[in-house]
Amino acid sequence: MSHAAVEAAAAAAGLIVMGGFHPQTGGTLILLGTGPAFWAAFRASAEATDGAPHPVDRWSKRVIGSIAAACAATCSFPSDGPPYAPFIAWAMATGRFAQSPVGMMVHDRVGMMISLRGALHFTQHLALPARARFDPCTGCPAPCASACPVGALSAAAPYDVPACHDFLDGDGAKSCMVGGCLARRACPLSRGAGRRSEQSALHMRSFHPS
Ligand code: SF4
Ligand code: SF4
Repeated sequence: MSHAAVEAAAAAAGLIVMGGFHPQTGGTLILLGTGPAFWAAFRASAEATDGAPHPVDRWSKRVIGSIAAACAATCSFPSDGPPYAPFIAWAMATGRFAQSPVGMMVHDRVGMMISLRGALHFTQHLALPARARFDPCTGCPAPCASACPVGALSAAAPYDVPACHDFLDGDGAKSCMVGGCLARRACPLSRGAGRRSEQSALHMRSFHPS
């Protein structure tokens, strides 16, 4: 198994490799998440239309479980818990994520439109691509910090979740609820996610059920 083979298997399923690292305990951990091809792959699945709860989580477990089986790896998921696996710490360990001024992570390919779907755990040491240090926020005018209409995501204070939900019940029903969080969309790197508005709307309904 190689990193390139894992990337190819992920791409065939509609996912992207979001990073990898070598844990101190040995082996290799590779994170999978959504990219531009995800929505079409998900929409074509049974989970998208069966009406059962948590369709994206169920899709992720089926698809990533198949990739793991084909790659002789084991897998874990951010939706499993408690206890929850340390996906944020794993993400930062890959070197492909940085912390944005508003506290949320930003990724070198999908910006702030991060949706980690699972992790593959290999007992063997896979060679990983060398990358320069990812530091997108130094020197950036930080549009992410001023885009939220109610200041729920800013560089000045922790995420104001109640203010966010209040807005989503009102004017946000026509903006964030339809197209996704304005602060996340403001990051220029987020364009790399190729995020469809339908996908963002599904994510927002999960975060803020009506
Ligand atoms: S979803 Fe809308 S209200 Fe909530 S933090 Fe993002 S921009 Fe602000
Ligand atoms: S908009 Fe700029 S400061 Fe904000 S997360 Fe993106 S790169 Fe970093």
